[in-house]
Amino acid sequence: MSYLLRGLAAGGGLRIIAADTTRLVAEAARRHQTSPTASAALGRTLTGALTLAHVLLKNPRDRVTLRLRGGGPLGGVIADAGLDGTVRGYVTNPEVYLPPRSDGKLDVGGALGPGGDLQVIRAHAPYGDPYSSSVPLASGEIAEDIAVFLAQSEQIASAVLLGVYLEEERVTRAGGVLLQALPSCDDAALALLEANVRAFQLTEAMAHRSLLEILEELCWGLEFIPLETALPLSFHCRCSEQKALTAIAYFSPAEREAMIAEDGGAEAVCHWCGEKRWLTPEQLRSISREELRCPDCSTLWYRQGQLTIVREQELCACGRAVKLPN
Ligand SMILES: [Zn+2]
Ligand SMILES: [Zn+2]
Repeated sequence: MSYLLRGLAAGGGLRIIAADTTRLVAEAARRHQTSPTASAALGRTLTGALTLAHVLLKNPRDRVTLRLRGGGPLGGVIADAGLDGTVRGYVTNPEVYLPPRSDGKLDVGGALGPGGDLQVIRAHAPYGDPYSSSVPLASGEIAEDIAVFLAQSEQIASAVLLGVYLEEERVTRAGGVLLQALPSCDDAALALLEANVRAFQLTEAMAHRSLLEILEELCWGLEFIPLETALPLSFHCRCSEQKALTAIAYFSPAEREAMIAEDGGAEAVCHWCGEKRWLTPEQLRSISREELRCPDCSTLWYRQGQLTIVREQELCACGRAVKLPN
């Protein structure tokens, strides 16, 4: 099981959030058929989003989205996480593979960069506009980029460790640790933390130590105190058949009939989780009953369950006066 631990150290001067995400990163890699390089990028981003949620969010229903984009062949990587321990995400080009770097690590920075940015979006449910801020990519290695984001955009001093380890192209270890220095943290504790964190190999340590043991080691001399029991983590998407139908509804009725004629239905693939759904002709035709289109040019005027798309008395794209039923 993937899980998250929280705790304090240095007499409350340090907040620590750590996650073992091996199982859920392996599932994400399987769902999206990612190359080793893309698995590392996706795994680090999923883990980063899960730990960051516990720094940035307050309401259990809020979500945080982490989006990294660069000029490299990977295109971009995105993850969406909440305080409930659920996360989902994908990479733009999952097949992109780069040879490992000279130190043997997967070249995530090379695949993402150069240039580009890290964008962090906080969505407050059910009300409130999403709040977004971004920083230029520091290295594209993701852990460093999150630390720079926290320092520059949030004025939070932190250390971030993220790791994904693969054996024979399979994810066998993945995890992350986010250490946040609170204003009350004294310089001696920070210096000790820096020494402990420097050159710490997270996935190597995960091979023979539990997350709790790793935190005790990272906080050597700083007295780590776990906060509560572990929070289970999972790869979880909010997609549904209804949402797939809503997406297909952006095609015109003629286009939907063509799908039925050519393929006997339509396959909708959720880009967040890779789930494939087969939509039958009956389902595709049911969309037409819930919408009203211009009789002349078939521009969508109104769809059931949505706000009015075109207002009464406006003119349609073709010039016809819009007439909606009461
Ligand atoms: Zn999905
Ligand atoms: Zn029209």
